Amino acid sequence: MKLTRAPQGKILYDWPGEGCETSLKFLDSAQLGPQPYDVAIVGAGVVGCALAYKLSRFRLRTLLVDRNFDVGEGSSKGNSAIIHTGFDAAPGSLESKLVTHASRQWPALAEKLKIPFEACGAVLLAIDEEQEARLPRIYQNALANGVEDVRLLALREVREIEPNAPSYVRGALQIPRESIIDPFTASIAFAEVALANGTDILLGASIVAVGNPEAAIKTLVTSSQNRVTTRLLVNAAGLGSRALADAYGGAPFDINPRRGQFLIFDKFSRPLVNGILLPVPTPLTKGVLVIPSIFGNLIAGPTADDLPLGSPDATWTTKAGLEAVGMGAARLLPSLAGQPVIGTYAGARCNCAQGSYLLRYNDPHPGILTVIGIRSTGLTSSPTLADHLVQGLVDNCLLKLEEKVDTTDSRPECAWPGWRRRPYEDTARVRQRPDYGRIICTCENVSRGEIIDALESPLKPRTLDAVKRRTRTLMGRCQGFGCLVPVAEIVATQCGIPLASVTKNGPGSALLSS
Ligand SMILES: Cc1cc2nc3c(=O)[nH]c(=O)nc-3n(C[C@H](O)[C@H](O)[C@H](O)COP(=O)(O)OP(=O)(O)OC[C@H]3O[C@@H](n4cnc5c(N)ncnc54)[C@H](O)[C@@H]3O)c2cc1C
Repeated sequence: MKLTRAPQGKILYDWPGEGCETSLKFLDSAQLGPQPYDVAIVGAGVVGCALAYKLSRFRLRTLLVDRNFDVGEGSSKGNSAIIHTGFDAAPGSLESKLVTHASRQWPALAEKLKIPFEACGAVLLAIDEEQEARLPRIYQNALANGVEDVRLLALREVREIEPNAPSYVRGALQIPRESIIDPFTASIAFAEVALANGTDILLGASIVAVGNPEAAIKTLVTSSQNRVTTRLLVNAAGLGSRALADAYGGAPFDINPRRGQFLIFDKFSRPLVNGILLPVPTPLTKGVLVIPSIFGNLIAGPTADDLPLGSPDATWTTKAGLEAVGMGAARLLPSLAGQPVIGTYAGARCNCAQGSYLLRYNDPHPGILTVIGIRSTGLTSSPTLADHLVQGLVDNCLLKLEEKVDTTDSRPECAWPGWRRRPYEDTARVRQRPDYGRIICTCENVSRGEIIDALESPLKPRTLDAVKRRTRTLMGRCQGFGCLVPVAEIVATQCGIPLASVTKNGPGSALLSS
């Protein structure tokens, strides 16, 4: 018998107004079918997307839902984009176990999922006597976590590895497997494979209430008052997890967002380092780093600004924060001072007063899992955390797993982001499709063809930010000054919507006002 691929899941947007074509709109819960879902994951950050990816191998009806209008729009888009080895995690903790295992899986996984990834390595620099005294303990900690390839460096070796390291360095530790990744594509890739395997994805839908949480079949109520039923509910809502837990009476915990601010330097600065420069971490934070981005820039950050309870979306930057980043980065790399900054951003960590990586099964009712405090390493740990959660749902929530025979665990070759395999450089491709030769974003050399490909890609992204994260248009040196309108025009034409309805990140963020 010839095996056919499992039917693809549905991608729907709960989108009031004109910014999205009717065929993609979630107008009625009947569009999702009459049967309850086996698992509904609330939160399509990298954790929720990775869980959907892992569950999609099994014969289950799964729904991934997010209030934002793209996947990976929460903490998962505002991070340092490092795949950590776990050298500095607390030995024996769940975080340490998941991070160290994931760091070994990422090179093959990134290749399979077509996520740009580079094992550039890192050097941790001690710049005063007190920091130098802490190096041996950090080294021993790394060994205790099974990160055996770390090495204490002689000062001569520091110069060889990072010629621009400051003259006042007193000691250093090399962590060869610390790596950088495209954080946006990580969430997108997990979600695309889940979708291909039959997972339904609902975006723009905030879950504001949970009906019958104690019953075998629970009802999720969206802000548009649509209802979706499910047997198991996974709260992977990150900074929104407390509010969601309140909707079903979850046990107490407090989220105190910890904001991290970053500076993005121009690509001319990239040759200043060979890999990541790390300061000696403190118990509170990993400190301000200098990080080569996978896109060819240099990034400095993050800060660790503790924000009050109830400010989950405080991701704006501040003058004081950015100055602190500039000073911290210059301590590790003096030649960075004065280099042109092309942009800034901030993300907020899901810092929980009760601890990190808290997983509460049947909280407080059977069939509800609350995932809490995936704070500083969730991008790295997402694949192993997802495996751990699947097993936890089996052990604690009676989830039954039966493998589907016709699933995929990979994305096709054409899914490599265009900025990595430049279509405009391939004459044959340009001849075949002249749109690949029509450059719209001249900073990052993004062609009209790539923007159209992004709009037609499986999740059908419909916002400018979503197109930006897939193509790098609007992300270059001019930060969209030159290409914003041409990109918006392509979105409007391809989606058949008025130009005035094209949005930055969903309803309420239209570019033009009348
Ligand atoms: C400054 C900073 C630097 C970091 N650096 C690194 C790093 O270098 N390496 C690393 O591994 N990790 C890093 N992290 C951590 C990593 O980014 C996070 O651990 C990870 O992104 C958490 O993913 P998540 O899916 O749990 O949360 P999120 O990405 O925040 O996803 C939660 C989702 O839930 C949705 N949601 C919330 N409430 C609702 C609701 N009621 N209904 C529907 N949807 C809802 C939100 O819209 C959001 O999309 C960093 C984090 C920050 C902030």
